Amino acid sequence: MKLDSRQLRYLTAEDWKVLTAVEMGSKNHELVPTVLIAQIAGKHIGVHKSIATLAKSGLVAKIKNAKYDGYRLTYGGLDYLSLNSLRRTDTVFSLGNQIGVGKESDIYVVADPTGKQLVLKLHRLGRISFRTVKANRDYLRNKTTGSWMYLSRLAAMKEYAFMQVLKREGFPVPEPIAQSRHTLVMELIDSFPLRSIDNVSNPLKLYGELMDLIVRLAKVGLIHGDFNEFNLLIKEDPVTKKSTPILIDFPQMLSTTHENAKWYFDRDVNCIKRFFSRQFKFTSDEPGPFFEDAIKDTDQNKRLDIEVEATGFSRKMAKDLDRFVEAVGFQNEADEDTAEVAEDEGSHEVDQDYSEGEDDEEEEEDDEEEEETNSQTVQGDQNEDH
Ligand code: ADP
Ligand code: MG
Repeated sequence: MKLDSRQLRYLTAEDWKVLTAVEMGSKNHELVPTVLIAQIAGKHIGVHKSIATLAKSGLVAKIKNAKYDGYRLTYGGLDYLSLNSLRRTDTVFSLGNQIGVGKESDIYVVADPTGKQLVLKLHRLGRISFRTVKANRDYLRNKTTGSWMYLSRLAAMKEYAFMQVLKREGFPVPEPIAQSRHTLVMELIDSFPLRSIDNVSNPLKLYGELMDLIVRLAKVGLIHGDFNEFNLLIKEDPVTKKSTPILIDFPQMLSTTHENAKWYFDRDVNCIKRFFSRQFKFTSDEPGPFFEDAIKDTDQNKRLDIEVEATGFSRKMAKDLDRFVEAVGFQNEADEDTAEVAEDEGSHEVDQDYSEGEDDEEEEEDDEEEEETNSQTVQGDQNEDH
């Protein structure tokens, strides 16, 4: 689903109230009855007119054949609510190019009001198809749009919470800037993913740094869980030319006390070994690192896994997200070929949601305004967001 912020500025204060009402109603209703939308939005609001506008822009969807007249929020609507929050807090001013399409996220360059470039990550859980995933297919198939949105929000919250503590503890991660619903904003790392680098001057040194990073994480109670060439960005200092690896992508991060912790730790280590041998023809003489050694001198006063659990990201949320992650088999990006972008009938709920509204968008192709090709300002009505 493409993120098109052009309608953002045309929505009125009433439209925003109604969109927010649909979101609030979605907490208890898969399909939010129109009367409830009206009730939440307030009696002075022209609900029908706003709903028509929102539906035309693909921000809410009417469900056919329902027992009652009702709507549900689409991912487009959720994107708008989130962008509106980020705009109102002066976090994001304009939307630039998409720089990444992950299996379960979209990455955009955005700019803050001073023109500083940042990264906006939108979590899109449920987008991949699970044709190849045998276990837990029913768990995935029976998910509703609302529960995918809930999980996407959890992924963003978890990722943000981890980035905050990791940054504070001096780990090489992007600076987290804001989080809203299923999105987060972070520092843009001017870099290349490790995957795209053919040559390094000193593979032994880089290898050592990456293994140290895995061990340092374990010492504070954490395993990245997807530590590979896609999630390591190599940043070069323009003056000293020194390269530093920056770690990204944290929704699957797990505790060293997880029952399969050793397995995930070893997988992270082996991913790097495999990549270095394939890409740089480099194999270390040293065995390890080993999980048992890494956790031996864990600093119990600095258990970041426990700290994150104590923040807004509760145990229940962690459990909900873990069930999803386990259901997709802890998909690892380095084993890419086992995942596909949604196409098959198995992910019907999700397909529907990611495609809906696109026809409308095409029709709406507005000639009113010439946009800069790579930057849309996220300006609109300055009204509240609940
Ligand atoms: P996914 O969960 O979809 O894998 P990632 O967080 O790994 O999402 O991001 C996907 C890609 O987007 C990365 O491989 C990287 O190229 C780019 N990217 C993500 N975050 C940043 C950032 N902070 N700075 C620069 N590029 C980034
Ligand atoms: Mg990634």
